[in-house]
Amino acid sequence: YIKGSPQYEFYVEQHKNQTYETVCKSIKKYSMLGRKKMKMKEALLLMDNFVDPSDPDVDLPNSVHAYQTAERIRKKHPLDYELQITGLIHDLGKILFEFGEPNWNVVGDTFALGCKFPETIILYDTLKENPDYNNSKYCSKNGIYESKCGIKNLKLAFGHDEYLYIVLKNNYNHFLSDKYLNIIRFHSFYPWHTGNSYQHLEDKTDLAMKNNIIDFNQYDLYSKEDTDFVLTDEIKKYYDNLLDRYFPDELLW
Ligand code: FE
Ligand code: FE
Repeated sequence: YIKGSPQYEFYVEQHKNQTYETVCKSIKKYSMLGRKKMKMKEALLLMDNFVDPSDPDVDLPNSVHAYQTAERIRKKHPLDYELQITGLIHDLGKILFEFGEPNWNVVGDTFALGCKFPETIILYDTLKENPDYNNSKYCSKNGIYESKCGIKNLKLAFGHDEYLYIVLKNNYNHFLSDKYLNIIRFHSFYPWHTGNSYQHLEDKTDLAMKNNIIDFNQYDLYSKEDTDFVLTDEIKKYYDNLLDRYFPDELLW
């Protein structure tokens, strides 16, 4: 990203504002659900008006990205309905915008707080403005974590990944299983799943989880390659059916 571009400026903000403390506060705040009661379908509709500021392809509403991701999965995995629905909903945590959260607390690649920042983090140099960067509690290789503690125990930069995970983990009236909840939770954790950092903190279950996310990641692109993508009534109806099957009732958000 070029200095001065909207994406660069976004990461300057995210990297100076996400700290161990703000992440803990956000998790605590959003673990108390009930701001909204709505079906997954309604959350998807809200994405019609939302364009991701951290992404270079800024002209695409997020609902289109949702259907595109799901359709790419359907082509490769026509019978894996759970993966298809995961593709459709993976970014719906972005409704955090509805609650007034700033961009830096909703989108962007994530990284762990509470331990040294690895250089695989996008625009690493901008992290030098982060208050945790020189904090002696957090700046050693393990920081506050035990070796092999497991990726699920890390506090990641807060955003739509963690929020949707919290929502799904705490509503019991849906049929999406943990394997897919974890894909949602860590899909933006690029320094880990693509940069191969944080291996010293992985436990023995994390490699399988990482492989699931790497597989998912190839479908989660804002690519200009399928500009021929047309959202047809057939596609909408297909996913309407899946939504009814996996998320039949209203969820607490
Ligand atoms: Fe995302
Ligand atoms: Fe996405």
